[in-house]
Amino acid sequence: MKPKIFLLTTGGTIAGAAAKSDALTGYRAGAVGAAELLAAVPALSEVARIASEEIAAIDSKDMTEAIWLRLAARVEAVLDAGAAGVVITHGTDTLEETAYFLHLTVKSEKPVVLTGAMRPATALSADGPLNIFDAVRLAASPAAHGQGVLVTLNGDIHSARDMEKVHTTAVQAFASPDVGVLGRMEEGAPRFRRRVLTRHTAASEFDLAGVTELPYVPILYGHAGADDRLAAAAVRGGAAGIVHAGAGNGSIAKAVLPTLAAAAAAGLPVVRASRTGAGAVLFAEDAYRMAGFIDADTLPPAKARILLALALLKTRERAEVQRMFHEY
Ligand code: ASP
Repeated sequence: MKPKIFLLTTGGTIAGAAAKSDALTGYRAGAVGAAELLAAVPALSEVARIASEEIAAIDSKDMTEAIWLRLAARVEAVLDAGAAGVVITHGTDTLEETAYFLHLTVKSEKPVVLTGAMRPATALSADGPLNIFDAVRLAASPAAHGQGVLVTLNGDIHSARDMEKVHTTAVQAFASPDVGVLGRMEEGAPRFRRRVLTRHTAASEFDLAGVTELPYVPILYGHAGADDRLAAAAVRGGAAGIVHAGAGNGSIAKAVLPTLAAAAAAGLPVVRASRTGAGAVLFAEDAYRMAGFIDADTLPPAKARILLALALLKTRERAEVQRMFHEY
């Protein structure tokens, strides 16, 4: 019997509709339902038995933590109920954040695969149908077991840990900086060429049982000419932790440092990430170490924010949070 794959839809360009087939921007995201998405890929019935459910119908810039909590619970429920794998369709703008959130919180070895599209469903050469086809084949593949949450677009297979959107409009919009893809969809099947070494899914210590909201963790963007007004506002605004997207190797301007150091001294975890898009944040200045800042490793700011929020559900202790940044 063909494996049962559960399709959860959240909206995005993959479900986008425009008035004309040559319109690649200015469309309505999330306008097309699961039945229409599936109808565009008739060959799917040869690969899997598909059930579907709408979780949201939004442009992913509007993704919320409340939807994440619902989505994570639904993914676990359908896997526990016997689905062989889950496919989630999602807008590409924040796809990497949802994927990483699920990578850290879904307690299952079964494949969970996110996909999206850069061209709306109504466009010439829409990329959504093939991406859905690949995502279902990936989710139905035993080779995808135990690999954490996966993302496939344009034939590439990425780990949720490492992938980022790196282009505003191109079809090849995703990359896994530094480490590269896990594999590719080739001749109708996934070909994996490396594995993820960081902790995830079934081996993750993060647990959403009883969690109704995540701690408030804003991101501050470092830039020439920065002063401390935003950092002070973040502290005043009730941040439970702060991610600083610094220039280069996670650098923090002298004008911002005292405010963040005072926040860290008061017990607020402050994570140094980098705005560069690649590379680990490593030791840079004694002042950062003395202030007790936490290094984000290779996590980009938006993913560092997710890990810090989940860490804060368990601890505010600096060494513990730093350990998590090295392990996840
Ligand atoms: N704005 C869209 C979204 O993220 C872009 C896309 O899906 O490609 O929902």
